[in-house]
Amino acid sequence: MRDGRFATAINCIDGRVQVPVLDWIRFHLNVDYVDLITEPGPDKAIISGSEATYRSIFEKANLSIKTLGSKSISIVAHHDCRANPVSKEKHIEMIEECVEVLMKWRLGVRILGLWVNEWKYVEVIIDTEKRF
Ligand SMILES: [Zn+2]
Repeated sequence: MRDGRFATAINCIDGRVQVPVLDWIRFHLNVDYVDLITEPGPDKAIISGSEATYRSIFEKANLSIKTLGSKSISIVAHHDCRANPVSKEKHIEMIEECVEVLMKWRLGVRILGLWVNEWKYVEVIIDTEKRF
C-alpha cells in the first residue's frame, strides 16, 4: 500500500480537463493523489471502443484499486470532447452506461460518473455512495 489516500479516474486525454478533474477529486473525495487512466473520449472507449482498449482500461483500473489501494473510481466525460463529439445529453447517457459497466467489474469501491461542463466545472452525474 502506498502512503497517502488515492482515487482513480478514467479521463479524456484532453489537456483542458486534467486540472479541473484532479482538483475536484482531491477536494471532494478527500484524497492526496489521483491515479489517472486517460483515453480519447473515455465514455465512448468503454462503451464502443476496441476490445484491446477496453481491456487496457480495465487492467489499469484493477491495478490502481486492487494493488495500489485506491478507494474510488470516476469515469469522466466533458464538454467539447473532440474524440466523442456528441451532445451533453448523450454524454450523460454514456456516463450512466459506463457506471453500469464499472459496477460489473466488481472492484469493490465507490464509483462516480462526472461531467466537466463548458466552464470546466465538474458536475456529479452518479455517485454510488449518494442518493439524489
Ligand atoms: Zn475529450
